[in-house]
Amino acid sequence: MFERLKARSRAAAERQNTRGGGKVGRGKAAVAFAAPLTFDEVSRRYGESLALDRVSLDIAPGEIVCLLGPSGCGKTTLLRIAAGVERPSGGRVLIDGQEVAGPDRFVPPEKRGVGLMFQDFALFPHLSVLDNVAFGLNFLTRSEAKAEALAALERVGLAHYAAEYPHILSGGEQQRVALARAIAPRPGILLMDEPFSGLDPRLRESMREETLAILHETRATSIVVTHDAEEAMRMGDRVALMRQGRIVQTGKALDLYRAPKDILAARTFSDLNELPARVERGSAETVLGRFFAGAIPDGKDAIVCVRQGGVRLLPAGEGVPGRVLDTRFLGDVGLVEVAVQGLDAPILARVRESDVPSQGSEIGVAVDAGAVLVFEAENGAAREP
Ligand code: ADP
Ligand code: MG
Repeated sequence: MFERLKARSRAAAERQNTRGGGKVGRGKAAVAFAAPLTFDEVSRRYGESLALDRVSLDIAPGEIVCLLGPSGCGKTTLLRIAAGVERPSGGRVLIDGQEVAGPDRFVPPEKRGVGLMFQDFALFPHLSVLDNVAFGLNFLTRSEAKAEALAALERVGLAHYAAEYPHILSGGEQQRVALARAIAPRPGILLMDEPFSGLDPRLRESMREETLAILHETRATSIVVTHDAEEAMRMGDRVALMRQGRIVQTGKALDLYRAPKDILAARTFSDLNELPARVERGSAETVLGRFFAGAIPDGKDAIVCVRQGGVRLLPAGEGVPGRVLDTRFLGDVGLVEVAVQGLDAPILARVRESDVPSQGSEIGVAVDAGAVLVFEAENGAAREP
């Protein structure tokens, strides 16, 4: 027993040394040595079903990648495999260039320097807030662990709750304790599974900002899982879009927004009007105009996607004739439903609140070519630029 403790505190000392010493600035998150994280053709099978299908992803030291995708697409499974609480059925995971999971190697979770913050961020009800945060610091002496835990609590603005028990905290405060617990061991890699999904929208916004600031401060390599495209675009240095166990597209938020790989990706990042079209002489023809169809061959059916913000409403007599069916206020913008001559379904336009026309009025409609994406109808492949 004594030997094991000694070995542990030796490991702790080494950890401190490799992590730049124990000095923790007041109210500042301790700095980890960020490690690169690589998934190399990682698969995970559960019986007949494939939860992950050859996922490859390289995350640079200190980079924040948002993993975005619908429920059931494999996000949690990928995090669990990175953390080491789940084994891949195929492929390899590398941390800092070292294989931690693969055909002949498996490094247990506690040896990976990976912090994992679960979706439900359950705190232990019978432990004080301070002990909750100190929980993962068993490689330190008791007093060192308390000092580190207190520093982490200070960073999230909750040091004054150190001696309290979790049940007196609000949801947002519990969330911040969970964040303190995740950063306290100074993981080189921090994995967060839908960390804001349990919070109400207003709180979510401020927690997002605070978490982002802390991630930047700790400089941990991070994966933040979300099913909210706006959140992914807001938080990620890069976004990895997942679908059915595969990564569909990876890139900076703006690149994914501007050039989504297929129509499903396009729908993820923007609210769209979808107009049926046929490609003739390199253009997709619609009631609202002709749009460059790229590599889609002539004679093919296409879908012209017009962002709601790219529909312009004009005075009657200009553009294509339309009639305002309905208007809805969404705060700074209004959503206008317009019946357009020659189109079966009405289209939706997002315009400034002050530009919302009155219901029933006759107007004209035009489309900004820059707000249009054209996809082939059959396979949803994007046009080549
Ligand atoms: P997400 O986090 O994106 O919602 P998950 O990674 O939790 O998705 O799950 C991906 C798929 O793997 C789902 O179809 C899920 O049902 C399945 N799955 C996850 N864990 C298990 C398990 N332990 N046993 C069987 N199937 C599982
Ligand atoms: Mg999940």
